[in-house]
Amino acid sequence: MEKIVLYYKFVPVSDSESVYLWQKALCEKLGLKGRVLISNIGINGTLGGDFKALKMYKRTMNEHSLFKDTVYKWSDGSGDDFPRLSIKVRTEIVTLGWKPRVSEKGIVDGGRKLKPAALHKFLEKNPDTVFFDGRNNYESAIGKFKNALTPNINNFRDFPEELDKAKYSKLKEKPVVTYCTGGIRCESLTALMKRKGFKRVYQIDGGIVKYGEKFGDEGFWQGKCFVFDKRLALGFSDKAKDIGICVHCDTKTSNYINCANKACNKLVLVCDKCAIDKSEQYCHEHSRINTIPSRNTRVAEVS
Ligand SMILES: [Zn+2]
Ligand SMILES: [Zn+2]
Repeated sequence: MEKIVLYYKFVPVSDSESVYLWQKALCEKLGLKGRVLISNIGINGTLGGDFKALKMYKRTMNEHSLFKDTVYKWSDGSGDDFPRLSIKVRTEIVTLGWKPRVSEKGIVDGGRKLKPAALHKFLEKNPDTVFFDGRNNYESAIGKFKNALTPNINNFRDFPEELDKAKYSKLKEKPVVTYCTGGIRCESLTALMKRKGFKRVYQIDGGIVKYGEKFGDEGFWQGKCFVFDKRLALGFSDKAKDIGICVHCDTKTSNYINCANKACNKLVLVCDKCAIDKSEQYCHEHSRINTIPSRNTRVAEVS
């Protein structure tokens, strides 16, 4: 049986080069594919492969003084969902262009973490809470929390500039709950938000994935969860709705394809019906049909 495992840990790493060599040897020995990023503020991995090999990986990590107590999220999939094994040393484990302070306990001065059940209690007590999507526009286009603000950004690195926009200033006094796929981006993002003067910042512990495991499509989550591997979109139950919009016909869809124009190759929402026709396997710009303006990058306004 094959599986995919995701994890991260913010912790000071004094010798990232030796961690790199150790990870490379370990993953190669276990025949794993996927991606591991190492930096002097922590480690972040998404690995696929044989379930037993992944459990051995976890056991080996737990024996390491820096990486014990790492939380692992298991997901359906296999090593074949990744093109290769890639292990890299970077300045950050998730590229925000702004580095949080990190101690043995994790990020210093980040947003308080709310587990999925605690989030529901929090919302009851704080009805003026605003959900804030910590992901990119193409991710929130197919799934988001109810009434969430979905910043129109293409890259996580755009957040430092995005957050300075006047439209977010009203949020500085309100309770704000951020979320992302597995929680890692919110760790850095909430620390940045607090630094920028957002006073009541919280984050969903474990992100959309943990929330979806607990509440599926019965809570505040709507749509599908975008993932950065071959699967592209995950539904939490058979009740998962499509909230994305086909660029050609306006039908609700979560079906991403890469624009068939190789020079473009950008991700574009094309419904199953339109995608049957080869001439429509293009983004709006490169489509020969070209009648309906692309709507999959709408900007949310702050209210
Ligand atoms: Zn369509
Ligand atoms: Zn295109």
